[in-house]
Amino acid sequence: MRNTIPYGRQSITEEDIQAVIDVLRSSWLTTGPKVEEFEEAFSQFIGTKYAVAVSSGTAALHASMYALGIGPGDEVIVPAMTFAASANCIVFQRGTPVFADVDSETLLIDPSVVKKKITPRTKAIIAVDYAGHPCNYDVLREIASEYGLALVADCCHALGAKYREKYAGTLADLNVFSFHPVKHITTGEGGMVTTHDSILAQRMRSFRNHGITSDHRERHLQGDWFYEMVDLGYNYRLTDFQCALGLSQLSKLSNWIIERREIARRYSEAFHAVTGIKPLAERPDVCHAYHLYVIRLDVGNGLNRGELFRALRERGIGVNVHYIPVHLHPYYRKRFGTAPGLCPVAEQAYKEILSLPIFPGMGDENLQTVIDAVKQLSS
Ligand SMILES: *Cc1c(COP(=O)(O)O)cnc(C)c1O
Repeated sequence: MRNTIPYGRQSITEEDIQAVIDVLRSSWLTTGPKVEEFEEAFSQFIGTKYAVAVSSGTAALHASMYALGIGPGDEVIVPAMTFAASANCIVFQRGTPVFADVDSETLLIDPSVVKKKITPRTKAIIAVDYAGHPCNYDVLREIASEYGLALVADCCHALGAKYREKYAGTLADLNVFSFHPVKHITTGEGGMVTTHDSILAQRMRSFRNHGITSDHRERHLQGDWFYEMVDLGYNYRLTDFQCALGLSQLSKLSNWIIERREIARRYSEAFHAVTGIKPLAERPDVCHAYHLYVIRLDVGNGLNRGELFRALRERGIGVNVHYIPVHLHPYYRKRFGTAPGLCPVAEQAYKEILSLPIFPGMGDENLQTVIDAVKQLSS
């Protein structure tokens, strides 16, 4: 296959590599000092009290559902337009996901739909900052307070994004990040939950370590062997060499956000006059982190998303579709009886969206290649 411009990819420098090597030469490969260092740097960057590092974004979502005590019979509201893991975490805890439709201009969870989905069994709302655009947290917070619900933010797309001058990661009770290589910074696999709540942070620290109250290093430092397992947890720990990579990557995040926003600006400018192609809306009160650059096609006007997808792929342009609405997956249909028609806005959007390549270091030439190909193939 020819060289493809991917829709997203990591940037790794010599400095990153050296940071990992240094840890490999040290005495701690996991549960050592780098975990705390990364958590502290991360919480400082975001502006939150606590950050708990875990082995993936999915583990971070699971830890957040556990920390909130989600269990059988509990309902959690989640948008249909997201990656399956945003809803799977509810099911891990034997809770019931309740799918909410999205706003047609941003594809973010629609607060007016959220309100209609609330029942006496509702315990929490998971908001997803789709593509890197923070949700309307003031309105979601108001709803959560009115009904006594917890608010969780799936910020896996939104590291470095801001809503009304506040960083994503400070806006909900629990805020979840992923460090998969396509995301803003990477640790290979990895995740983080940020919170201002010390009890929730403590619960997640125990959850990532089998439900044990102290970790290996704490006991080592105290010269103690005694520990207690107080609840059922998992091994969701992030290693020290991954945290060293995360620390090194974090120092470059601000510049990468500027770069992503510039690529998005160039795309929007280029497609402005192209009929049949519309970027998603960007609200004036946010700083969009552009994990994804999503265009929406006017499929009623003869444009075919499937054909455009295949033609671009044939030219080595790694476009993608984010996402198949979660409630349409066979697992959810079978297990929860969801079906087409449940979230019509998300279902219609799914037929019209296409994610274009966007990542730091993409380069002007690649950017122009994508712009020219999209323009040519859609006219
Ligand atoms: C990437 C992602 C996840 C899962 O993160 P992993 O680190 O891959 O487990 C969850 N939700 C959203 C919205 C994501 O984009």
